[in-house]
Amino acid sequence: MKQPTTVREYDVVIVGAGPAGMTAALYTGRAMLRTAVLERGFPGGELLNTEYLDDVPGFPKILGHELAEKFATHAKQFGAEFFETTGVASVTKMPDGYFHTETENGEIFRSPATIVTSGGTPIKLGIPGELEYAGKGVSYCAICDAAFFKQQVVAVVGGGDAACEEADFLTRYASKVYLIHRRNEFRASKILQQHVFDNPKIEVIWDTVAEKVEGNPQTGMTGLRLHNLITQKRWLLDATGLFVFIGFRPNTGVIAGHFEHDVMGYVLTDSAMMSSIPGLFVAGDLRAQLTRQVTTASGDATTAAIAADKYITRFKEMERTNSTDASTRSALESSHVSAGGYT
Ligand code: NAP
Repeated sequence: MKQPTTVREYDVVIVGAGPAGMTAALYTGRAMLRTAVLERGFPGGELLNTEYLDDVPGFPKILGHELAEKFATHAKQFGAEFFETTGVASVTKMPDGYFHTETENGEIFRSPATIVTSGGTPIKLGIPGELEYAGKGVSYCAICDAAFFKQQVVAVVGGGDAACEEADFLTRYASKVYLIHRRNEFRASKILQQHVFDNPKIEVIWDTVAEKVEGNPQTGMTGLRLHNLITQKRWLLDATGLFVFIGFRPNTGVIAGHFEHDVMGYVLTDSAMMSSIPGLFVAGDLRAQLTRQVTTASGDATTAAIAADKYITRFKEMERTNSTDASTRSALESSHVSAGGYT
């Protein structure tokens, strides 16, 4: 016989426990909202794939997993309940206005508002050594990690805007940047290509793919095996860093139903981080925005949490008064900052 589904009631459910999710939890906890944080693995998100960070204010240099622990401890201190190894299958807005966040185990977390912070995933090359040396030479974020490669030789793989832009950025620190592309022309915009061609520290290697990351498990990456697809030549490039920029996918698959997004699939929000689904807020890497950093994820999440608190207050007021009044409903559905502002 099918077991009855467990339904747990919360004020707000947060999907994901990266920097955005944990910041949101800190703020909703401080607002005395009953908060559930659902995380597929363990708290930290991309921080767990980052060895050191030196771009978080107040922490000149900190290990990624150490910062993740600090974020989690801080959020729990204000009462947020963390559910680890709890993957979310779907977030669905029900006809009564509540969200049902269903886990992969079939449990349902019911709440008037939800904050989705499920991040994004850099597309991987899928070559041997790539995951083994992630955070030990292999990176997917030049802004985060370039400073760790001062006066070193690094390789960048990709031929789009990100690869060209980040290769250029990396030359601020690296002594030499090899830009490796599988074809003999870039798909990047002409201006970004020109920056690459004008930069004496960048050498482009055309028609070539990376085959294997070599390294020493203690000290990190030591080289990159390459294969020229035209000449069939294979060789080992001496490089201590590999930056992979072959695309990025926002993890929006859990959001059931239509939501507005940009051409790349990133979720569009209003200034209060509310998506086109009223009550569904997003923060961090899955949101359409200029940049994706720990600080911006935390900033978005702060706004999302405070806006969600306002939304929940209005939602409960509407429910208490059984209001179907159009103006109340429209006030609820536009989370926007009122004249008094959110503080
Ligand atoms: P992208 O435009 O999709 O380019 C991905 C690049 O990676 C392509 O050159 C592709 O090669 C290559 N690639 C894909 N799979 C590969 C594999 N398995 N092995 C080796 N190479 C592989 O991705 P993106 O550069 O991340 O940019 C994503 C979007 O963000 C774009 O719309 C871009 O315009 C935008 N963006 C804009 C800026 C800016 O304006 N400053 C900066 C960053 C990103 P092929 O060319 O052979 O397919």
